[in-house]
Amino acid sequence: MKPKIFITRKIPTHVINHLEEVCEVSIWEHKDIPVPREVLEEKIVDIDGLYCLLTDAIDLELLQKATNLKVIGNMAVGFNNIDVEAATKRGIIVTNTPGVLTETTADLTFALLMATARRIPEASDFLREGKWSTWSPMLLTGQDIYNSTLGIIGLGRIGEALAKRAKGFNMNILYHNRSRKIEAEQELGLEYCSLENLLKRSDYICVMTPYTPETKKMIRKEHFKIMKETSILINTARGGIVNENDLYHALKDGEIWAAGLDVFEQEPVVLDHPLLSLPNVVTLPHIGSASIGTRTKMAEVVAENLLQALNGKIPTNIVNKELIAK
Ligand code: NAP
Repeated sequence: MKPKIFITRKIPTHVINHLEEVCEVSIWEHKDIPVPREVLEEKIVDIDGLYCLLTDAIDLELLQKATNLKVIGNMAVGFNNIDVEAATKRGIIVTNTPGVLTETTADLTFALLMATARRIPEASDFLREGKWSTWSPMLLTGQDIYNSTLGIIGLGRIGEALAKRAKGFNMNILYHNRSRKIEAEQELGLEYCSLENLLKRSDYICVMTPYTPETKKMIRKEHFKIMKETSILINTARGGIVNENDLYHALKDGEIWAAGLDVFEQEPVVLDHPLLSLPNVVTLPHIGSASIGTRTKMAEVVAENLLQALNGKIPTNIVNKELIAK
């Protein structure tokens, strides 16, 4: 009997075809909306493999209903939408898609940094709204990027790729990370800092850690108070890492200059969210890894991991490595 896989959204056809060669595949593809909870609860009961997205909450309650589930393939590098501990207790492998999205997400992070610093969306709207009457000395003036100081919080794969881009802009690069990255320090000329030191000295602060209990609301009121009034916060990691209410007040009260956000605590962000009312906030709908090539590769990686696990092999991108011993 072929193993059963459920895919929670439409993905590239060639990936579905590849999975269908050896699996019985069902897909939630009615609309580009997350699979309803009741459908997921029904499907989880007898599937062997789950192909899910960061919009799917794979929690304990759901996992308790899974009687056959062997592997969960998350189409993201972050896996905060999955209760990994509960999956591990049940012997269910969890996989993610590290690496293939690193450069694309670093590109987007740098693009957002530049768009925020140079007020690009605001300037574009200004022109389209017919407000451009003349060249003016201080019209839509922003912050310089070249020669400025970048602080990266979380120097992992994407953080390091971001540092490489920043070097091309002759930026002075500080980083704060759980562990020191001596090799990267030497190769890229980075300076390791405490969080406070980094926040005090940086012109640009990029949040690049995973979303975990330790990083939840890691950047909050007291941190904005020590940042420069001209500083810009960029978050392309996860919304919950920054206290959004504190960020709103810091931006409104001029404690910091601007923010560029690809991610929010609740996604999609509601249109009456206070942060969206501020002119000094540049927002994107969580598109960090959204290039055609990268999203295609991510889908392929999820499929490969699912097939490896269903074939009794250790998937390349297993998250709960403690299962390997078992
Ligand atoms: P990664 O290689 O695992 O890097 C994460 C880094 O954060 C590691 O260097 C880690 O330190 C550090 N870290 C973890 N907890 C920390 C803490 N409490 N304090 C300080 N540093 C901490 O992950 P990645 O591939 O670069 O991805 C990073 C995150 O970006 C993902 O988890 C995901 O949430 C987000 N992301 C967003 C998008 C998007 O579309 N916007 C796309 C891709 C990824 P150690 O080296 O000590 O472990």
